[in-house]
Amino acid sequence: MVFSQIPKAIGFIYALVMMGVIAYLWYSGRWRQKIAWLLLVISVALGFLIFSPVLPWQFQQLVLGDVEGLGGPLIIGVIGLAVFLLLTFVFGRFFCGYLCPVGTIQEIASHAPVPKVSLRPKKVFMGIRAVFFVLFLAMAFLFSASLLALFGIQDFFYLSVTAGTFVFIIILLLSMTLYRPFCRLICPYGVLLSLGAWKAAFKIHRTSACIECKKCEKACPTDEAKREDGKAECYLCGRCTDVCPVTGALGYKRGG
Ligand code: SF4
Ligand code: SF4
Repeated sequence: MVFSQIPKAIGFIYALVMMGVIAYLWYSGRWRQKIAWLLLVISVALGFLIFSPVLPWQFQQLVLGDVEGLGGPLIIGVIGLAVFLLLTFVFGRFFCGYLCPVGTIQEIASHAPVPKVSLRPKKVFMGIRAVFFVLFLAMAFLFSASLLALFGIQDFFYLSVTAGTFVFIIILLLSMTLYRPFCRLICPYGVLLSLGAWKAAFKIHRTSACIECKKCEKACPTDEAKREDGKAECYLCGRCTDVCPVTGALGYKRGG
């Protein structure tokens, strides 16, 4: 982290405003890949500059009761994390998709021109992440220990040279070929956000214009593009809407 004196609240405010802006652009059909790339780059830059909004890390510091690491009083941390969870219940996982530095740097890596591993059984991924979630809580409550530190999230964005940094670099290299391994296998806050996205008021839906060509299903890296999928693991990456050959067959809208 380059600017430790800048309050982490700047990152929270950025994410809060952008959640609404992104949702509006998707809903109104004005979302473009150029905007996506701009946000991905800004979010990663904020991760390196002020290490915010890294909500998985804030969630961990909250569970550990670490006020200093949280960057503010515990109650503010609870409110901040709850607000983003509630927003996910409304708009889906835009935070993961475009605002979390940990998620966005993996998203950028996923566009590397290397062969992709198509491992998409989402229940297996979610099951492994649930095991990590229990481990995360057990380590925090029983031993006051940090699971995320083992994966080097903070060390990487602080540009520290530690064993954890190398672990995160390996995760990044892996994410060039396997879509978002940290988000889909490890992230404890992602567990909560996936529940929010599953029940979200607004999601990507197929309309009656769909011709069932299944191109979206083949393009989706998380197995969430089938008509009946709940979208818990949809990161609103836009791959499905980009490949869909029929205008209006996929739309970000309210309801089922
Ligand atoms: S799953 Fe976790 S790490 Fe991934 S983008 Fe969401 S909050 Fe960030
Ligand atoms: S391809 Fe579509 S359904 Fe799949 S994660 Fe991306 S936006 Fe969500």
